[in-house]
This record gives sequence, structure tokens and C-alpha cells, in this order.
Amino acid sequence: MSNTRFSGHCSTAADYSSVRDIVHDRVGRQWCLFIDRDGVINRQIVGDYVRSWADFEWLPGAASAIRTLLEWAPYVVVATNQQGISKGLMTAEDVTAIHRRIRAETGRNGLEINAFQVCPHLEDAHCSCRKPSPGLLLDWLGHHPEVDPALSVMIGDSRGDLELAQNVAATTGGCLGVHIGDARAPVSGIDVSFNSLHEFTLAVISAQEELH
Ligand SMILES: [Mg+2]
Ligand SMILES: [Zn+2]
Repeated sequence: MSNTRFSGHCSTAADYSSVRDIVHDRVGRQWCLFIDRDGVINRQIVGDYVRSWADFEWLPGAASAIRTLLEWAPYVVVATNQQGISKGLMTAEDVTAIHRRIRAETGRNGLEINAFQVCPHLEDAHCSCRKPSPGLLLDWLGHHPEVDPALSVMIGDSRGDLELAQNVAATTGGCLGVHIGDARAPVSGIDVSFNSLHEFTLAVISAQEELH
């Protein structure tokens, strides 16, 4: 994509160096890349929800980034809180239809997003799957014993996503947190930070080229 915006913070040499390590440590391994949806893949709608495909807006470069990430990570899973379902603003089927479309538009060469893990519960329901609780990730990992759970990587734009990475790591022994956003959020749990999924993917590509 040529319309990448480099406003906001610039990723540091340390971020690129960390991505080199992330890529290097996972060569030939079975592991899963978990990606938050709203604010990472598509534009977040403040105060409302993406209720249908008409509300869905790709962030610049995100779709092509996912195609590239599918060629890197053996498994790619989207993990998203969608309490609008329990609020009755949309149905689980509406959300599934959006995810089917995301999967179709990012699939290439037989590779596609492996799963969409959705928490439909209200925040005050205190379920075990609403991020930052680790349920969405641990559930998927529990069904994939061939995957090394300690090599998990969680990409997200919110504090909750980074807390999630830490909560998963507490159980699995490892889960890196990749922060996406235009400001370096002052939260712990960030291993690397990039403006966009697109920019993170460029760092992955350059790390892969260095390895070859
Ligand atoms: Mg988000
Ligand atoms: Zn839940």
C-alpha cells in the first residue's frame, strides 16, 4: 500500500530488532499469531459496533498485511470482544457473516485465517473469555496441541490486548504483546510497538529477508 501514514510515533530500531528475534525464534515452529480486530484490522467505531459489512472499513494496508502474515505464521486467529451481540445490537450470525467476508478477502493460495474467536458477553458478565481474560486464546490453544503455546504472539491496539498477552503468558509460559497504535501507550506488556499492522508486517518481511 502506498498510502501508509507515518504520523504518530516512529517505531525504534529496538522494535525492528525485537521483530527479528520474534521471527528468528519461530522458524520451523508451530505457533499462532493472534490478532485483535477493531482498531487493528478495521477502523474502530467509537461508541458503536461494526454491525454489518456496511460498517466495516479496512485500515490502510491491513488486508494485504494479513495475506503476508498468513505466509509467515502457521496459524492466524482473530480474537475479538463483541459485546454488542449481548446488547442485542447485532446477532452472532451478523458477526459471523462479517468474519466470513474478512476471511474471503484475505485468503490467498489456500491460506486463510484459521479461526475467529469471539466473546459475545457483556463486560459485567465477568465471563472467562472477554479480553483481557485469556479464555479466547486458551480455548483455541487447548484444541491445537500441535501448537507451542509459549510461542504465541498477540497483536492489539488496546491496553486489554496487552494485558491479555500477559495473562496468556502466565498460563502458557509465553505470549508476546505487539502494540499497534499511533502513540506508545504507557502500559506494561508491550514487547514491540508499530503504527499499524501494515508497518509491523514490513518489519516481519525485512526480518525474513535478513534470515535468508
Ligand atoms: Mg482493538
Ligand atoms: Zn466472554
